[in-house]
Amino acid sequence: VTLPFLQKLEEKVGKSLSIKLNDNRSTILSVKWEPAKIKVSLHRLFLQAPQEVFEGLARYLRREEKKISIAVKKFINNNLEQQRPSKKIDSNKLSTKGVCYDLVEMYHSLNGEFFENRLQLFITWFGNPKSFNKTKITLGLYHDSLNLIKIHRLLDSSRFPKEVVRYVVYHEMLHHVCRPEVSLKTGRRKIHTLEFVEREKKYPQFLEIDQWLKNYYKNYFKGVC
Ligand SMILES: [Zn+2]
Repeated sequence: VTLPFLQKLEEKVGKSLSIKLNDNRSTILSVKWEPAKIKVSLHRLFLQAPQEVFEGLARYLRREEKKISIAVKKFINNNLEQQRPSKKIDSNKLSTKGVCYDLVEMYHSLNGEFFENRLQLFITWFGNPKSFNKTKITLGLYHDSLNLIKIHRLLDSSRFPKEVVRYVVYHEMLHHVCRPEVSLKTGRRKIHTLEFVEREKKYPQFLEIDQWLKNYYKNYFKGVC
C-alpha cells in the first residue's frame, strides 16, 4: 500500500488500519471493525480519490456514518464505468453459428426489438455440451471489459426452445445496459439491480420462460437433464 495514503487515512480515522488494496470489481470496499484495528479491503481506485471522497471514507471507517456517503458511492460508480472496454476482440475467432441456433441472428433481432440497434457487442458460443459440470452451470455470461456475451453450447439444442435461448441472450445484453451499482449498505457491487430486474420482466412471456428455466435447473441438478 502506498504509504502516504495509508498514513493520511490512519491519521484521519484515528485508529490503526490494516489495508489491503485490490483490483476486484465485486468487492470495492469491505470493512471489519476489530477492537485493536480496522481491517479494510479497498479497490485501488481509492488511491486517486478526491478529498470529499477521502473524508467520506474516513467518516465511514470512524463509524460516524452507518452508510457509505453518496460522494463515495458516486466516485466508485463513475470510476468503474471509465475502466471498461479497452481490449479488442478478433471477431473471426468467435463462434456464432450453432447446430440449432445462430447467435448473431438472435443478437441482431434483439438489438432492434429492445435496444434501437444501439448496442455494439460481440457474442459467441462457449463450453462443451458433452463434458460439463453437474454441480454448476452457467448458461450465459457477459464480459464487461470485452463487450462480449458468451452463451453455453448446451443451449444449442432443440431441447431448448428458441424463445428460451433468445431470452438468455437478452439477459446478457441487459448487463451491458443496466450498469452494476454499489450497495450503500454493504459496499458490494450489485449486478442484478432493481432496474435490471424490471427491464428483464418486460421480456415477452417472461414468466413462462423463467418457469421453464427454473424447472430445467431443478432437473439438471437432479441429473434428469
Ligand atoms: Zn445476470
